[in-house]
Amino acid sequence: MWLLTLTAFAEKLLYVFSLQLTSLWKILIHLYSSFGTLLWSAGGKRSQHGKKRGEIREGTAREEDVSGHSVNPVSVNYHFTRQCNYKCGFCFHTAKTSFVLPLEKAKRGLLMLKEAGMEKINFSGGEPFLHDRGEFLGKLVKFCKKDLKLPSVSIVSNGSLIRERWFKDYGEYLDILAISCDSFDEQINALIGRGQGKKNHVENLWKLRRWCADYKVAFKINSVINRFNMEEDMNEQIQSLNPVRWKVFQCLLIEGENAGQEALREAEKFVISDEDFEKFLDRHKGISCLVPESNKKMKDSYLILDEYMRFLDCTRGRKDPSKSILDVGVEEAIKFSGFDEKMFFKRGGKYVWSKADLKLDW
Ligand code: SF4
Repeated sequence: MWLLTLTAFAEKLLYVFSLQLTSLWKILIHLYSSFGTLLWSAGGKRSQHGKKRGEIREGTAREEDVSGHSVNPVSVNYHFTRQCNYKCGFCFHTAKTSFVLPLEKAKRGLLMLKEAGMEKINFSGGEPFLHDRGEFLGKLVKFCKKDLKLPSVSIVSNGSLIRERWFKDYGEYLDILAISCDSFDEQINALIGRGQGKKNHVENLWKLRRWCADYKVAFKINSVINRFNMEEDMNEQIQSLNPVRWKVFQCLLIEGENAGQEALREAEKFVISDEDFEKFLDRHKGISCLVPESNKKMKDSYLILDEYMRFLDCTRGRKDPSKSILDVGVEEAIKFSGFDEKMFFKRGGKYVWSKADLKLDW
């Protein structure tokens, strides 16, 4: 009897002890992860405030807080390079620097954006396939889809440097590829500056359309309507290319980029009136995937990050940079983005942007 009671008591003791051990273990794990988070954020803060001059340039953001409410960076355009192999006369994001962030820093910024609410990232330039022959871009695309699990990852490119190998390596991680094409007449493309020697921009467009279908990437076309293409009828070609979206922009002037003394381009001769833009839209009104963007709609309705991960504020007709999100965080930098969230929704900025939801007949 005594022996039985003793055994039962020992069992109870062991049970309670093991429970406590489990709880103790849980507490230890919790403490460890909290400590890790603390260390990580302290490290982040140190690098945010320890200004490494020359590496991340200081922004020239306006000092006043431009809006009281916080903006949600649902859809972000990251122009990680300004370098390009084309010379479009109206280009409004020109090669003013050759800077590109190191890969790990760019990834850190993208993680910060995701934590702040980003759902869609668009990589643009310059020409995004130029840097490191598209490998840098591919790694970011893969990181955003596989690690960050963003619903939508897209690219805007002139298409001239894309190889099939890239689709093989990274196509599965890309939702949408938008190719810039302003004309189906090669002479007009040459006048605009879209093209490189003997390479035919239009033939290349068809090749990319096929690869998008083969590798299951949604295909989109962007066109800038300007003085040289405003009379063109693109109905037939657009219908046969059958993009998921055809974005049609009105040529836009931005001081310091394509207008004014410090600009690398003089786009004044490309500019068209609102009436001419409307006429072009009217001629193509039968195309259901056409998404028009007048200057008014476009100017402030994009969240643009430059090569230093600074938001660019276009409200004053030029691109005023915030401080880098890597230095001050997303919440602080976005106050200086000049972003018109209402116009973003009004212009249909949020749409079905994940290829999983597009239900395409590839
Ligand atoms: S392809 Fe795009 S980035 Fe390059 S020059 Fe033309 S508009 Fe500018």
